[in-house]
Amino acid sequence: MSHADELPSMTSEDALHCDTCPKTVARGDAIRTETYGDLDADRWQTLCCPTCGGRLKTVFVRDE
Ligand SMILES: [Zn+2]
Repeated sequence: MSHADELPSMTSEDALHCDTCPKTVARGDAIRTETYGDLDADRWQTLCCPTCGGRLKTVFVRDE
């Protein structure tokens, strides 16, 4: 897999922190689920902790 889309300056932003099980999760390791509410699922996804399933962050995924 290519990592051409990962800019060095964004490395820290790709690390997500779980509040439920104090753990740092790489964005690439997070589980992606559809958002709830009225957000467009084609553009937004919720990243969840692979360990406890807790919600980490909702992200814009226009390029995917
Ligand atoms: Zn967790």
